[in-house]
Amino acid sequence: MLRLRPHHILCILGFRGLGYDASFVENMKQVVDRYFRGEEVKVVEGADDICIKCPHNSGQGCSLYGENVVRLDRRVASLLELYFGERYASRDLLRRVAERIDVETFRGLCRNCPWRELGYCEEGLLQLKEALKR
Ligand code: SF4
Repeated sequence: MLRLRPHHILCILGFRGLGYDASFVENMKQVVDRYFRGEEVKVVEGADDICIKCPHNSGQGCSLYGENVVRLDRRVASLLELYFGERYASRDLLRRVAERIDVETFRGLCRNCPWRELGYCEEGLLQLKEALKR
């Protein structure tokens, strides 16, 4: 079972092999693969299976984004109606994202994230919406 903090449910859609260092990228690849293979997800507060290999995971929280990322997690959890400590099927999470997060909402949520400028996350969100229409 994967452990994910809410905003990483969005980040996963934009992963294209980039990250903070080689160890982070290798771990993220595995998490993304497990997620899309349908592994169950426990939604957690704070550091998760992605943070665990991140050089910015200080053990006291995220040293890069601090409290902003905690607020972002709460906002995403609220939009997707997710509860910390609960388990969800990854298909269910994908459907919730596609149905409840439009592009404008995504841009607002992620406006301060430097990765957003690459365009991969928005592209991933649009691809997901298209795929679930079929
Ligand atoms: S930057 Fe912060 S929130 Fe993002 S993976 Fe690293 S520790 Fe986690």
